[in-house]
Amino acid sequence: MRLDPRAPLVLDTRELGRRPGSQRQKSFSAPAPADLGIEVLRVPEGSPVEFDIRLEAVMEGVLVTGTASAGLDGECVRCLEPIHDEIEVDFQELFVYEEKDDETDDEDSGTSRLEGDLLDLEPLLRDAVVLSLPFQPLCQDDCPGLCIECGARLADDPDHQHEEPIDPRWAALQGLTQDDDVPSRNPGVPEE
Ligand SMILES: [Zn+2]
Ligand SMILES: [Zn+2]
Repeated sequence: MRLDPRAPLVLDTRELGRRPGSQRQKSFSAPAPADLGIEVLRVPEGSPVEFDIRLEAVMEGVLVTGTASAGLDGECVRCLEPIHDEIEVDFQELFVYEEKDDETDDEDSGTSRLEGDLLDLEPLLRDAVVLSLPFQPLCQDDCPGLCIECGARLADDPDHQHEEPIDPRWAALQGLTQDDDVPSRNPGVPEE
C-alpha cells in the first residue's frame, strides 16, 4: 500500500532536497486516527492532535523529532468515573530512503522507510501514545474504588459504611430463631 500524500499524518519531505543538514520545522494539527490509545484510555477519534516537528535530512534519510499533544478520554479502572486528561509525547525516528533496486524490502525489519519523499507519522504517534499511557488509569492516585456491597463510589462518600456484619455464629442462631418465629415457612408444619 502506497502512502496517500493527502492523508493528514503523511508528510512530504521533498523541500529538504535530500541535502544532509537541511531542516524544516512544522507545527500543525491533524485529526486523531481511530483506536489511538488503549481500551480504557484513548485519544478520541477525530479530535485534534497538535504536532510540533522538526524534519532534518541526514545521509541515510530524514530524521523526525517532535512532540504531539492531544486530549484523552477514558474511565477509572477502579470506580469507572470518566477521566478527561491530556497527553504530550515526544518521539524521534529516522526514516531511511527507499532503495530503488530492492523491492523485496523486509517489511518487518523494524526500520521506518520513506516512500519516495513521503513519510507516515501514524505508527510513530501510535507507539509514543500507547507507551506513555498508564495500564490502569485512575481518577485519582488513591481512588478507593466502589463499595463491594452496594457499588457506591467511595471517593464521593469516604465515610460510607454498612451495618456491622453479624458475627457468623450469631447469624446461625438468628436463623434458627427466625424459623421458630415463622413456623408457616416450614412446609412440614401445617398452618393453624
Ligand atoms: Zn476512580
Ligand atoms: Zn455500600
